[in-house]
Amino acid sequence: MTWMRLALLASLRPQRQPTRFTGEIWVNFFCQALGAPIPLLHAHAVARTQCACQKFVLDQNGNHVITCKKKHTGAITGHDHVMCVSVQLARNSGLRVRINHKVATTATDSNKQGDVQAMEFGIPGYDDLVWDVSLVSDRISSSTQHGLNGKLQLGDYLNARARIKNNRYKRDHAAKNIAFAPAILSVTGKIHPEFLRLLWVLTDMQTVKYFNLVGDEEDIGNERFKWSRATTFSYNRNVIGLAVAYGRDKFVY
Ligand SMILES: [Zn+2]
Repeated sequence: MTWMRLALLASLRPQRQPTRFTGEIWVNFFCQALGAPIPLLHAHAVARTQCACQKFVLDQNGNHVITCKKKHTGAITGHDHVMCVSVQLARNSGLRVRINHKVATTATDSNKQGDVQAMEFGIPGYDDLVWDVSLVSDRISSSTQHGLNGKLQLGDYLNARARIKNNRYKRDHAAKNIAFAPAILSVTGKIHPEFLRLLWVLTDMQTVKYFNLVGDEEDIGNERFKWSRATTFSYNRNVIGLAVAYGRDKFVY
């Protein structure tokens, strides 16, 4: 479930747009990884600048902005970046995908829809699979008990968020023959097991597709296939880790 958080650096490619960090993002990234004050926020913290929610003062580590209930531009950009990367992985696996408002709404509420819908996903009894991306902070940072803010969350906070998402979507999507999976990640790069499993399934599809493409169908399932799948899985997981690092740094803006 956890992994070496800096492993994502292995998948950095200067020529690829999504993996090109600007100088400011690098600064934010290293400050957050080390737990050092973020220069962009330090002045705000000293001046006690209020967050847009009017309830909290911005802290120099950027903890509050990640959990603030008022969805500001940075939070939406951060979330959407991670979502788009998950869509790219699905497309690499040969799936047809719908996103945002094109995703099917649930049976009970015409306003309720997840982030991504993969058509004909292949789960027995279901037509498609919908997932919903959610970034969770590892630190308490929007508590009205101000002394708690900045402390590490001790409970099973990834599961708690997954439960909320499952309650919101699972049964209502199932009524329309659509399976649902929560895609929960923590801002330090922890991946909830349900999303990790989805990543593995996508990687399996991607590897099968590749072996078919190069005419190696007879190798599918053998040792060579398994090693190839493991390499791709590790790469894809790093791609998601990198997307989280990038997305988290976007929150600060
Ligand atoms: Zn706020």
